[in-house]
Amino acid sequence: MPPKMKPWIAEIAPYVPGRSGESGTRTVKLSSNENPLGPSPAAIEAMKTASEGAHRYPDAASHRLRDAIAAAHGLEADRIVCGTGSDELLQLLALAYAGPGDEVLYVRRGFMVYPIAARRAGAVPVAAPDTDYTADVDALLAAVTEKTRLVYLANPNNPTGTVIGREEVERLHAGLREDVVLVLDAAYAEYIDEDSYEDGISLARKHANVVTTRTFSKIYGLAAARVGWAYGHPEIIDALNRIRGPFNVTSEGQAAAIAALAEQGWVRHCREENARLRSRLTDAVEALGNHGLRPVPSAANFVLVTFPEDGPLTAEHANRYLTERGILTRWLPNQDLAHALRITVGTEEETEEVIAALQAFTGAAG
Ligand code: PMP
Repeated sequence: MPPKMKPWIAEIAPYVPGRSGESGTRTVKLSSNENPLGPSPAAIEAMKTASEGAHRYPDAASHRLRDAIAAAHGLEADRIVCGTGSDELLQLLALAYAGPGDEVLYVRRGFMVYPIAARRAGAVPVAAPDTDYTADVDALLAAVTEKTRLVYLANPNNPTGTVIGREEVERLHAGLREDVVLVLDAAYAEYIDEDSYEDGISLARKHANVVTTRTFSKIYGLAAARVGWAYGHPEIIDALNRIRGPFNVTSEGQAAAIAALAEQGWVRHCREENARLRSRLTDAVEALGNHGLRPVPSAANFVLVTFPEDGPLTAEHANRYLTERGILTRWLPNQDLAHALRITVGTEEETEEVIAALQAFTGAAG
């Protein structure tokens, strides 16, 4: 027998990623909220060029990328840190601000990385209930104790796609002590084009205990490049810099992200396509309401669809039905969502395919 792992590590249920298709079979992958249109051609070119320097370590401080992010968002580069995806930064925040005996608060039916990040730090994850699949600020504030050190809020939320407005985010912040770090995870921010949306930046600018995280994995279509960033008070950024991997963002990732930022036309195109096809998917599911299917209104690039709790049309049956037809969506029984599937908005063809399959499923079994 090998030595025993630390008890708090043994308590971690490993992250379950969205499935990829079997090699050699055609699959429609709508299980990981990726951008089906991919990165802009310029980002791919930049990646290829950067790979010619693969024998050199990358810029350890992601200088040019931080400058590009700062310029694109009107920020100060010394308040930005880049990470191996925003996942790394979410984890580092827990390591920097929570430890054994501390509590880390998040919304139940929220992003599954948060409780894992808390446990990795040796802290206790505490889930606050949601209301109508949406973060409930009162419930979050009611769950705060003197042991709370960190609060994670994904806005829009994954896996539900719901969003809360600026006033609600401000109310949450106002209800927290100053020694609690509020992490606003805005991985899907670029899908929203509304003034009432708080993407975390303006709040992080105003308050020393707010930090926001962003990613190039979603609308920028660079999930495999693993590039994310965080913006916050210089002391928070300093804490993350102390504990991050020294060469945490590859040269290819940095180059691709810089090129992607310069292609805002592509980002707009992806946002518009997503909005159009998200409506199409939402409406089509709505039309299956007589079979008990319901879409949760989404602000992101996926739609959570709820199914009847029992009978032939459960989410579990739908998951099997779709999988057998090569359509991969996300069934999340471990997140209190055994009655739902999260479906990423794909290309037009993929969206029509999943709609047709859901119609056939309800027609065949209903
Ligand atoms: N936050 C949320 C809410 C997410 O859904 C994801 C991706 N699934 C991430 C963060 C992490 O993305 P990445 O590490 O690729 O930046």
